[in-house]
Amino acid sequence: MIKLLAFDLDGTLTQHKVTIEPENRAVLAALSSKYRLLMVGAGGCMRIFEQLERFPIDIIGNYGMQYAEYDAAKQALRMMENHVVPCDRERVERRVSALREQYGFVPYAGESVQYHDSGCVTFPILGTKAALSDKLAFDPDRKKRRAIYAQVCSAFPEYNVFVGGTSSFDMAPKPFDKRYALCRYCERCGFSPGEVLFFGDDYGPGGNDAPVYESDFAFLKVDDYKRFPMVVSAADLL
Ligand SMILES: [Mg+2]
Repeated sequence: MIKLLAFDLDGTLTQHKVTIEPENRAVLAALSSKYRLLMVGAGGCMRIFEQLERFPIDIIGNYGMQYAEYDAAKQALRMMENHVVPCDRERVERRVSALREQYGFVPYAGESVQYHDSGCVTFPILGTKAALSDKLAFDPDRKKRRAIYAQVCSAFPEYNVFVGGTSSFDMAPKPFDKRYALCRYCERCGFSPGEVLFFGDDYGPGGNDAPVYESDFAFLKVDDYKRFPMVVSAADLL
């Protein structure tokens, strides 16, 4: 008996960092009359809320480091949790440099590492200022990054590492990842894992939805966000 539908955003309901498709927003609205809905994103809650054009929904952001509830009276998000984990930038920098050296990821454009306020870290292989065309051409099938994924994970044991974006690794301080965040939400709101269905696009090795996909939560694959309405109707949810 499914009661809670949880969604990844980028690649599942929209293109990366782009406003939600009106058609997908309409499907969410229809689903909201039958189920509790929850966003589980890699970005910050406010960014997700704006991408959804302020759709009324609770939002987990930054892999569970943020949690915000929708306040219907104010038609706004209320931040309930906002974890910030300190980052030893020098130690991170040193390990990224060693990986660059080892795999020949030099030179790079701009900065070698991108630090986020939350304590999350991005290792942009081509650098923070690389041209979009270079980034898109670098690793479209993710093979290059998957080939060294295990080595990056072992270089950063205090982080959960994901193959992110076009050409980077994203890292969230442990224990934060989408599975952990979803478990905490279920405890907070009284759902059992069997009552949850998750929609995601990034379930392959190293993907940011993989921790959910590889867990006991039921998972629906959305390989193309334009097909999201079809995935919902095939699952007979409405
Ligand atoms: Mg995604």
